[in-house]
Amino acid sequence: MTSRTDLVEELMSRFPQVPREAVIKEDLLRGGLAFDDAALTDNENGTVKPKSYFIFSFDHRTLPELGTAALRRPPEEIVLTGGPYELRRTVVSVRINPSSPYRVGTDGDGRLRLFLDGRPIADVGLPPMPAYYRHTLANGKSVMEVAPTIQWGYLIYLTAFRVCQYFGAKEECQYCDINHNWRQHKQAGRPYTGVKPVDEVLEALEIIDRHDTDRASQAYTLTGGSITSQVDGLAEADFYGRYAQAIEERFPGRWIGKVVAQALPRADVQRFHDYGIRIYHPNYEVWDKRLFELYCPGKERYVGREEWHRRILDSAEVFGAGNVIPNFVAGIEMAAPHGFASVSEAIDSTATGLEYFMSRGITPRFTTWCPEPTTPLGRANPEGAPLEYHVRLLEVYRATMDANGLSSPPGYGPAGPGRAVFSVSSFMDTLPATPS
Ligand code: SF4
Repeated sequence: MTSRTDLVEELMSRFPQVPREAVIKEDLLRGGLAFDDAALTDNENGTVKPKSYFIFSFDHRTLPELGTAALRRPPEEIVLTGGPYELRRTVVSVRINPSSPYRVGTDGDGRLRLFLDGRPIADVGLPPMPAYYRHTLANGKSVMEVAPTIQWGYLIYLTAFRVCQYFGAKEECQYCDINHNWRQHKQAGRPYTGVKPVDEVLEALEIIDRHDTDRASQAYTLTGGSITSQVDGLAEADFYGRYAQAIEERFPGRWIGKVVAQALPRADVQRFHDYGIRIYHPNYEVWDKRLFELYCPGKERYVGREEWHRRILDSAEVFGAGNVIPNFVAGIEMAAPHGFASVSEAIDSTATGLEYFMSRGITPRFTTWCPEPTTPLGRANPEGAPLEYHVRLLEVYRATMDANGLSSPPGYGPAGPGRAVFSVSSFMDTLPATPS
C-alpha cells in the first residue's frame, strides 16, 4: 500500500514548480494532524497561543471526540522549518485529526517535531502567547474570545455574528459547520458570544492596539453568518458595517478593514465602503453551477448563482477590482457523491471560474476544505479531496494570475515561500515573494 509519505514525495517530484512547503501544508490542511498531549497548550494560562475556534471548528472530530485536545487546546497555528525536505518557514493553521499520519510530538532530544508516518519531517515552532491575550475586558471576557488573531498575529478575526441565518439542511452550505460549532462550544460551557457587542469589540481592539507594540496586526476581518432578515434590527450591510464605522472612528487607519459577507446589491456594497471597509470578500464558494446549487442551497434560493456573480462584478466598481477578493472552498469540487470524479475535471472547472474573475481584475482566493464531521459533505468525505487536486490548483491559480498580469492580493501580508503568513491555504506560499 502506498504510504502518505510516498504520495507526498511523488507529488513533490511531479510538480517541482510548486514549493515543497505548499505540498505539506495542503496535506495538513485537508487531512489534519494529531498532537501528543505534551504538545498541547495550557489554554489561556500558558506561554503558547491556543486555538481560538474563530469561526468554524476546522477539526476532523467533534469537541467531545478530541480527548485531551478538548481540555487543553492545541495551538492556533504551527510554523514548520527544516527537516528532510528543507522546508522554509511555513505557517499552518491547526486542524485536529487524531487519526492523521501527521503528528506533532517531541523527538528523543526533546525537540518539537512534525512526524509523518512516524518519521520526523520538520521542526515545529509554536506561536507565543501574545501580550494582549493576557488581558481581559472589564466584563471578564477574554480578548481571544472577542477579537482573536490568526495568521501569526497579522489578522484580527472578528466573527461578529457566530451563527448563520441559513439554517438547517435545506439552507446551510453543505460544507459549513458554523452553526454546529456554535452549539458545541455552548454545550462544552465555553464562552462563545453569539452577537458581539460593538463596545466589546472596541475594548478588545484597544487592548490589542496597546500591547501589539511591534504592530504585527495589520488587518481586521468582519464576518459571521449570513443575515437574511435582521440582527439587532439591522440587515447585513448595516449590521457588519456598524463595527467598521466604530473601529474607523476610534482607530482611523490603524488596520486594513475587510468584510466577508454575502454578495449584496450595489447600494449595500457602497455602504460597506462608506463605513470604512477597504476589502470585500463576497465568497462564491464553488464555481460549477450544479455544485453551487447543491452545496449552497440557501444562497441559491435567496440570491441565485448568476445574480451572485453579477453582484461580485458590480462590487468592483465600488471597491476597485483589486480589492474584491471572493473566496472559494478548495476541494469541495471533488466531494462525493455529486462532485467531479477526476482531478482534471475538477481543476478545469475551478480554472474556468478563476479566469472568469481574474480576466476582470478580480483575484479570488481559496481556503483549503476541511471536511468537518458534522457537515453533509464532511460526513460523506472524511478524507477530503485528493492531495493532487490541491497541488494542481496551486499551479493553475498562479498560472491564471500570471496570464492576467495580477499579483498577490492586498490584505494577506507577505507572499512567497518562507514568508507567507496566510495559514488556511498555501496560495500565498506559492506566489512570487513580495517584501514583508
Ligand atoms: S452562508 Fe453558508 S458558508 Fe456562510 S456561514 Fe452561512 S452556512 Fe456557512
